[in-house]
Amino acid sequence: MRWEDFRGSTNVEDRRGMGIPGGRGGLGIGTVLILGLVGWALGIDPRLLISGAEMVAGGRDGGTVQQQGRPGAPEDEQGRFASKILGNTEDVWRDVLPRQANREYRPPKMVLFSGATRSGCGSAQSAMGPFYCPLDQTVYLDLSFFQEMQRRFRTGGDFAYAYVIAHEVGHHVENQLGILPRVQARQQEVGEAERNQLSVRVELMADCLAGVWAGNSEQRYRALEPGDVEQAMAAAEAIGDDRLQRQGGGRVVPDSFTHGSSEQRVRWFLQGLKGGTVQGCDTFRTARL
Ligand SMILES: [Zn+2]
Repeated sequence: MRWEDFRGSTNVEDRRGMGIPGGRGGLGIGTVLILGLVGWALGIDPRLLISGAEMVAGGRDGGTVQQQGRPGAPEDEQGRFASKILGNTEDVWRDVLPRQANREYRPPKMVLFSGATRSGCGSAQSAMGPFYCPLDQTVYLDLSFFQEMQRRFRTGGDFAYAYVIAHEVGHHVENQLGILPRVQARQQEVGEAERNQLSVRVELMADCLAGVWAGNSEQRYRALEPGDVEQAMAAAEAIGDDRLQRQGGGRVVPDSFTHGSSEQRVRWFLQGLKGGTVQGCDTFRTARL
């Protein structure tokens, strides 16, 4: 993907190398990353899946100390990449959301961190993988996640990484559409199987919205290169719940899925990419998930 010409976002805060003020020492980075990868794919990712109250209470070291990172566009290659992909999602969603959903797009913030940091949803650790916190409307990303994707799943490439960022931004779009709060409320009232089912719908919608970003971005900016779509599909496939459960040596138990199977993740991503519409991503009103 030729992302160098994308506009860098000004909504990035760079906290890499800062650690948590007053926090305990970090976990071993290897452990953290492995946990994180599985966590991202298995549903720790959107902490939106636990209640708002729990999320607020989730920060064990309190939430009163404000942490200030460097604002503005990072200058290193990886930081610039994240900032430009985020900037491109802003440009695309600012155009698409009013047109398709009659809503103004207010972009999320993005915090780049290494190891651990604070979030509006409690302490954030690399172990959790990239995630979106609806309470402070911020995407949290430790860029070492991308190396770990490559190492563990042998999937990667700029467009695959962009898909990961766009998926988190997809959760923000769901939030702006009022879907997240409704789902969270519903999740309080139902049993585990249905809670997981709701989670799968939220995740597949985020995959689809990532596709909507990619499709509309491509129409306007023509930045994709041969093999890019296959790359993102391979990433989506590698992190399907069934695939991960099998890798974990267990049987595949669909009721326990929280993100969807490999086939579903790839299919919804492509649905968004090819259809290009938010309406086409309604995983709550579909006969076939
Ligand atoms: Zn997600």
